[in-house]
Amino acid sequence: MSILVFVENAEGAIKKTSLEAVSYAAALAENLGESEVVALSIGTEVSEGTLASLGKQGATKVLNVAKEELNQGVTQAYASVIAQAIESTNAQHIVLAKSSLGDPVAARVAIKVNAALASNVVDLPDLSDGFKVKRSIYTGKAFAWMTLNSDRKIIAIKKNAIEVKESGNDAPVEAFDASIDEADFSAKITHTDKAEGDVLLPEADIVVSGGRGMKGPENWGMLEDLAKTLGAATGCSKPVSDMNWRPHHEHVGQTGVKVSPTLYIAVGISGAIQHLAGVNSSKYIVVINQDPEAPFFKAADYGIVGDAFEIVPKLTEAIKAS
Ligand SMILES: Cc1cc2nc3c(=O)[nH]c(=O)nc-3n(C[C@H](O)[C@H](O)[C@H](O)COP(=O)(O)OP(=O)(O)OC[C@H]3O[C@@H](n4cnc5c(N)ncnc54)[C@H](O)[C@@H]3O)c2cc1C
Repeated sequence: MSILVFVENAEGAIKKTSLEAVSYAAALAENLGESEVVALSIGTEVSEGTLASLGKQGATKVLNVAKEELNQGVTQAYASVIAQAIESTNAQHIVLAKSSLGDPVAARVAIKVNAALASNVVDLPDLSDGFKVKRSIYTGKAFAWMTLNSDRKIIAIKKNAIEVKESGNDAPVEAFDASIDEADFSAKITHTDKAEGDVLLPEADIVVSGGRGMKGPENWGMLEDLAKTLGAATGCSKPVSDMNWRPHHEHVGQTGVKVSPTLYIAVGISGAIQHLAGVNSSKYIVVINQDPEAPFFKAADYGIVGDAFEIVPKLTEAIKAS
């Protein structure tokens, strides 16, 4: 039996979240005593060399469904292809990244192959008594443990919860000829408008965000300078966009964009629960605030207490100099 991992791509590269999923699958295979970790790629946008490199994260084989009509991520069609790959590889464990594509696909696959599904999983399962997984719930405020009782199990991994490990060699890539028909495209993406901007906020690996502590829109230049230096996207708190200091698509939080970068830098943001709901999947949080009692410091990995107007330019200069 094998473990099947569905990998997503963007602009010709495998998404980091999917590398995390492959690393998770490799560790799971070791714990379960399985020898095969089969990665499944759908569409034609990733080169064979890139697919083969999934061996470094622990894939023993890569199945490539190279059909152009699948490039757009139509969930029904993806679910159909993944279900066929599950049958073909006789996989009992299916791993994928929790994402805007992964979530609807996982739910459809679960129904097709009669599998239990756990989403937002943050750790390897406890196998001492059944198959028990730890899930992040309530936008990261609590954990739930869930036992998966069916033979087939689907595990959707939370972003940044699993380290990407690199050790192995390239894996062989095989064409997988899944059949797709019109019914798989009963809902179709006909048009996509891509947001403009240097770095897109939902996908950004580093985010520099500002709050009401920035005092006014005229002060955003220093945050943009820091963001540019780091190759980061800019975000803001809700009141900032409500006051039109920044565009609404930059508003981060429960009612705004949910981000999950490796690094989130919050400047002059108090850390209200509604803001934290949008950032608590970040791997590292750095908070700059003049109030040592600001709630955000409780969620921070690193905190700097002081005036943002002094600290941010110094930080930018130091990064430029390094
Ligand atoms: C239903 C609902 C949904 C909401 N959704 C969201 C959401 O999605 N996202 C969101 O952000 N909010 C949301 N809010 C609003 C949220 O409750 C807070 O009001 C908001 O996050 C506060 O924004 P802020 O931290 O920028 O401002 P403030 O709370 O005013 O905090 C400003 C911070 O800046 C610090 N500061 C001031 N001057 C400086 C300086 N010179 N240097 C350094 N620090 C300084 C202060 O110490 C303070 O901590 C929502 C509220 C409700 C009721």
